[in-house]
Amino acid sequence: MTSGSKKRILTGIRPTGALHLGHYVGALENWVRLQDEYDCFFLIADYQALGDHLDDIEGIRRSVIDVGLDWLAVGLDPEMSTFVIQSHVPEHAELAMLLSMLTPLGMLERNPTLKAETDQLETRSLSVGFYTYPVSQVADILLPKAHLVPVGEDQLPHIEMTREIVRRFNNRYGELFPEPQSLVGRVARLPGTDGQAKMSKSIGNAIYLSDDEDTVNRKVRGMYTDPTRLRATDPGHLEGNPVFDYHDAFNSDKAEVEELKTRYRAGTVGDVEVKQRLAVALNNFLEPIREKRAYYEEHPDQVREALMEGTRHAKQVAEATMAEVRERMGITYF
Ligand code: AMP
Repeated sequence: MTSGSKKRILTGIRPTGALHLGHYVGALENWVRLQDEYDCFFLIADYQALGDHLDDIEGIRRSVIDVGLDWLAVGLDPEMSTFVIQSHVPEHAELAMLLSMLTPLGMLERNPTLKAETDQLETRSLSVGFYTYPVSQVADILLPKAHLVPVGEDQLPHIEMTREIVRRFNNRYGELFPEPQSLVGRVARLPGTDGQAKMSKSIGNAIYLSDDEDTVNRKVRGMYTDPTRLRATDPGHLEGNPVFDYHDAFNSDKAEVEELKTRYRAGTVGDVEVKQRLAVALNNFLEPIREKRAYYEEHPDQVREALMEGTRHAKQVAEATMAEVRERMGITYF
């Protein structure tokens, strides 16, 4: 783990399943790239996952390990960066509680991502903990005093909220936290295999980084394409066609992608061939990740060590920040 003069990154993922291609292009790829330049804190946000997965503790427990495996498999390096299990650093909860006192309810009510998510849930099943998760994300970002937060597009309102809360805190108690910037990945939102706008573990339209070759082939064969195209000789549309979105995102043979696009528009290539070539490209992309994952599956001690060693370091950083916060806020009586 390095620190010193490097600027800090905090970013995270909820342990509610294994990671998929959307996580890769929307988040992980950037994280791997930024590890050299920044002092990175990668958070497994298990407290946050409880907001809508309270009845699935077993699933969360499994996913903490799955996320650790996926991180190591894509090349996040625990020697360079800090892996953190949120619930093992209870300062996350303490800071979230204190920041909630500084956060007007209207700030949450205006948050478009939160509004879209809560509209999907019935009021009855919407817990206070879920409703205030953007405040807990602010605490996650502020504990290591992060300067940069690489996120998916849907998270941008939360980073804007973080900046507002930082300004409130700093104005009231003196400069303590930097105002963090956001950084969106190469593909802001990867669609699902079913053509829905977002690949998501909860919708069941995902290709996982841990899927084997046969599973990838089967999922690609069943992918949504241009519904207006009845025969291979009909001119096809690329817009809203996730098969081509995935070719763009994952096929390293750009000449092949351009050729397929030209032939698709002209009606001189069938969906079957376009999908077969996509399956090959995806399997090429996933193979090194699968190999590394298989290694770590056989060495669970290394996964546990990466998670626990990082969490120990994060706890020290969090304790130091909380001491400053309590001091600034005057919560020191004796
Ligand atoms: P989550 O699984 O909701 O905790 O998401 C972790 C990170 O991955 C967040 O920054 C998300 O915005 C990003 N992400 C998740 N799904 C996608 C997707 N389909 N396309 C792009 N980014 C995504």
